[in-house]
Amino acid sequence: MPPPCVERKIENIIFYYYAKLVIAPSAGFKKNYGFIINAYKKLVSGEILISDYERELLHMNENQNSCSFCGSKDCKLDTVHIVPRYYGIPPGIHNLVYACSKCAISKGEKDLVEWWCKELGKPRDDIPRVPIGIYLKIAYDLNKINFSLKKP
Ligand SMILES: [Zn+2]
Repeated sequence: MPPPCVERKIENIIFYYYAKLVIAPSAGFKKNYGFIINAYKKLVSGEILISDYERELLHMNENQNSCSFCGSKDCKLDTVHIVPRYYGIPPGIHNLVYACSKCAISKGEKDLVEWWCKELGKPRDDIPRVPIGIYLKIAYDLNKINFSLKKP
């Protein structure tokens, strides 16, 4: 769970995890609490914004030959939805990543965080940058559309 200074509203919780799992690792400050809270506060104030999906597409272009989850290289890659289609999000490439057959079959149409943490037994903090970035952006967009960002 986020620290007590993070307000228990959907938007704040998404901002916290975006600061912790996307901004901090990208900046080389993974697990740096001060940096994470500073980035979180900037997201809350609007000083910095959750970037659009181009960032993830660029990352994927740079790593076209490797699995987005396990990093395997030079294997046949499939596309996998980050957020399951049954969540009702509009179809589009913003929700797709490349994955090796093993990860693609294992992940399937499961929720990213549940699959990673419960099924693979790995820490949430270790979800790779591109999948978690897409996941949090879609969570933000979905809650924005549903007017639920300010809900507890
Ligand atoms: Zn893989």
